[in-house]
Amino acid sequence: MLKKERYRYFVEYFSKHQPDAVTELHYSSPFELLIAVILSAQCTDKRINQVTPALFERFPTPQSLATATPEEVFTYIRSVSYPNNKAKHLVGMAQMLVNIFGGEVPSDINELQKMPGVGRKTANVIASVVFNAPAIAVDTHVFRVANRIGLTNNARSPLAVEKQLVENLPQETLAIAHHWLILHGRYICVARNPKCDICPLTWFCRYYERTHTEAALLKAEAEKIKKTQAAKRRKMLTSISKELKKRSVDKNS
Ligand code: SF4
Repeated sequence: MLKKERYRYFVEYFSKHQPDAVTELHYSSPFELLIAVILSAQCTDKRINQVTPALFERFPTPQSLATATPEEVFTYIRSVSYPNNKAKHLVGMAQMLVNIFGGEVPSDINELQKMPGVGRKTANVIASVVFNAPAIAVDTHVFRVANRIGLTNNARSPLAVEKQLVENLPQETLAIAHHWLILHGRYICVARNPKCDICPLTWFCRYYERTHTEAALLKAEAEKIKKTQAAKRRKMLTSISKELKKRSVDKNS
């Protein structure tokens, strides 16, 4: 199947079945989303949603967070991954918001990346979710699912995946495609054992095609037989060698 067709089926399927996909992080302002996305690096959205209500209540504005100490912020986020670093990043980010950006979250990806704790992925999330910019953030789910489906070819880095997705997806779907890929990766196309048996994308998924074609199944079956025969042979040789040992002991006694 041509890559172009995979893209078409991908957009058609999700536009029809998940036309309103959004982030699972809870927030009510660009500032809160920025905090939540910084915290979500290497952590689950569920965990972040558990800690942010108290954090947002204590630090409702960039000004309040900018004057906090990382030690105090730490007490609110101790249960997320890397709380020490993230506490420092949050305070540093708020200070930059206040001192450089007039207390407003900037919309430009390069400006966003100047703040502590904000990498390309976080900047793309903010740009696309808050400002509806034609950008797509590539996290571990997006990276894996795009590769498996076959939306990308030999893309070995998040930036390479981002470039290919931006090149091939219709511009107006970039922001939502990020959520489609994340949600699909979180619940169906999971990292270790993708749930292909319940996946609605099998008919255009490259990974499925490669692992479930007749040839692939025959190859897997042949491998299984080979392994079973080797195990049988090993068992037989062990028992012959035991028997020979026993005979030699009997003979010498
Ligand atoms: S068919 Fe399997 S590998 Fe392909 S997207 Fe679905 S779950 Fe992932």
